[in-house]
Amino acid sequence: MIQAAKQPESILKPIQFVDLKAQQDRIRPEIDAAIKRVLDHGAYIMGPEVFELEKQLATFCGVKHAISCANGTDALALGLLAKNVGVGDAVFVPSFTFAATAEVVAWMGATPVFIDSLPGTYNIDPKNLELGIQTAKKVGLHPVGIIPVDLFGQPADYDAIQAVADTYNLWVIADGAQSFGASYKGRKVGNIGDLAITSFFPAKPLGCYGDGGAIFTNDDELASIVKSLRVHGQGSDKYDNVRIGMNGRLDTIQAAILIEKIKIFPEELITRQQIADTYNAHLKDIVQVPLVIADTTSAWAQYTIRLPREVNRAKLMADLKEAGIPTMVYYTKPLHEQTAYRHYFESSRGALPVCEALAKDVLSLPMSGHVELSQLNYICGVLHEKFQ
Ligand SMILES: *Cc1c(COP(=O)(O)O)cnc(C)c1O
Repeated sequence: MIQAAKQPESILKPIQFVDLKAQQDRIRPEIDAAIKRVLDHGAYIMGPEVFELEKQLATFCGVKHAISCANGTDALALGLLAKNVGVGDAVFVPSFTFAATAEVVAWMGATPVFIDSLPGTYNIDPKNLELGIQTAKKVGLHPVGIIPVDLFGQPADYDAIQAVADTYNLWVIADGAQSFGASYKGRKVGNIGDLAITSFFPAKPLGCYGDGGAIFTNDDELASIVKSLRVHGQGSDKYDNVRIGMNGRLDTIQAAILIEKIKIFPEELITRQQIADTYNAHLKDIVQVPLVIADTTSAWAQYTIRLPREVNRAKLMADLKEAGIPTMVYYTKPLHEQTAYRHYFESSRGALPVCEALAKDVLSLPMSGHVELSQLNYICGVLHEKFQ
């Protein structure tokens, strides 16, 4: 079953960490035609494709409103602006995430409060969340909301998080930048929380060929506020802006590209799951494989394992690279240890042991909708050899 650790002749193309080229090869004529249509009609800003995409995104997620925007970071910022977050407010975020999750909180002048993660799913720990809320109150901050992250494509435990949110009367903005296409207990990511966001950065599960993002909500009022904020806070009279907003629109060309990509996306999600299943089956005896909680599916933005303590990760990565296998570490430093964010955490430094451990032992393996079985067998075979 596990092949000898020699790159087989049948692997004609080198293994990519995220194989965007194979996907493009598959749909290049459709993409070319879609871009040409935009060039022909010339509505580069808020053209018909933008509204068509929003309709399709809402249908895909089973949510009332999908509002496209320039990128996932702006999507988070638009959510916080819509919620009127400001100075003195505390917003609870996992420390083990991409910087954007906390960055937008700081933009508002509010305080990101960093929360520890669970060791199996790598997602925010609801018990530590409650502790964080109590600590924030003690130091005089005003808790307003939680931004759980669906790390590596796996939905956070939203029922447990919502229970905490209800107890303390907080809103939930789900950061689904990595999890578009995943589902949590019968609900698609996008149809969770007061608001949810995603990113269409090229390497995310559903990516465009540039920057892009979206915000989702079932709340009509929030939707109309976000739509206004996205275009400088415009009101019904275009020249009377009613709130301070931003230029946060998605380009028509990117919408046109996404309309073509979303057609093959359900199929890619199935392939990603098969790839994860294969990794799980081959690797579960030698490393800690990612845990997906019951009744939940992952979009598998990353396939991230935890290495046993005795393994030298840097050396392993170098050896794998030598064998033609690219790997990445997401993330080498939790946010509460990073230069720009450290000061927010000073009072309780050292209290997030799980994310500090994760930063030391996680390793992400090649993943996309286009990793071939021969490549997977090869990767797993090499890993087995390294662990002997
Ligand atoms: C990628 C990412 C973002 C930001 O999305 P961009 O489109 O790159 O701005 C936010 N949160 C998380 C968890 C991400 O992975």
